[in-house]
Amino acid sequence: MKIDLTGKTALVTGSTSGIGHAIAKGLAATGAQVVVNGRSQGKVDAAITAITKAVPGAKVKGVAADVSTAEGCNALASALPEVDILINNAGIFEPKGFFDIPDEDWTRFFEVNVMSGIRLSRAYMQGMLKRNWGRIVFISSESGLNIPGEMIHYGMTKTAQLAISRGLAELTKGTAVTVNSVLPGPTMSEGVETFVKDLAKQNGQSVEEAASNFVKQHRSTSLIQRFATVEEIANMVVYVSSKEASVTNGAALRAEGGIVQTIA
Ligand code: NAD
Repeated sequence: MKIDLTGKTALVTGSTSGIGHAIAKGLAATGAQVVVNGRSQGKVDAAITAITKAVPGAKVKGVAADVSTAEGCNALASALPEVDILINNAGIFEPKGFFDIPDEDWTRFFEVNVMSGIRLSRAYMQGMLKRNWGRIVFISSESGLNIPGEMIHYGMTKTAQLAISRGLAELTKGTAVTVNSVLPGPTMSEGVETFVKDLAKQNGQSVEEAASNFVKQHRSTSLIQRFATVEEIANMVVYVSSKEASVTNGAALRAEGGIVQTIA
């Protein structure tokens, strides 16, 4: 199968680093016009340069906007009125015990991880339905199914994304628009690397030891027994964004190495 998205425009939120950046690179390699997004113009410009270097002939541009606010989403939608592929990737995570999570954190996690995808789907989905083709992908997490005790607020946002994604898919009946979510497991993005480096420092371990111990202790049911790479997650996202993934709609697609033990 050769995935060709020439002529399609794809917006990947939070794509200046991590999983989002790998998705943007993967989509650029299919010939799509890719729009990268992050909060600072400097990081957006650096991401454009990196993708252009990595993918010969890549068509990449960028919009700096904070997608956790209504203003940021409006600015993005004004700068880029139409997209064919919307990847709701931007997200934050932070381990914190339930009794230490203040109201502001619950609200902030909801704004960044959930409202960003709601606002952008509202901005772009009607155009997709009118043109009778489109892809919306929410980057959720296995934490949306197995709620982690060490960050219940994060788990809540990832379950919310699954509900929204499935609900939006109901609005696509009879069209060639699809809405799906992808559920990564622990993945060695820049954000997670910082977290693992801190763990390694705290425990006097190498980064590799800390990563391996994290999976054994906190995600012991993992079948792969390791972190995924950002490219491994991007592969699933590029596939579900493709024309070939035409009968996958309303699905929660796991790319989590088998941590979740249920069959369906
Ligand atoms: P990361 O921290 O490495 O990258 C996140 C990117 O989003 C950064 O470029 C950051 O600048 C950007 N961003 C954050 N807030 C933003 C905002 N308000 N507006 C615009 N951009 C913003 O994170 P990651 O690990 O690559 O995670 C990406 C997504 O994957 C998140 O939704 C996360 O919940 C999900 N996920 C990650 C893992 C993992 O282990 N890495 C596992 C499951 C799900």
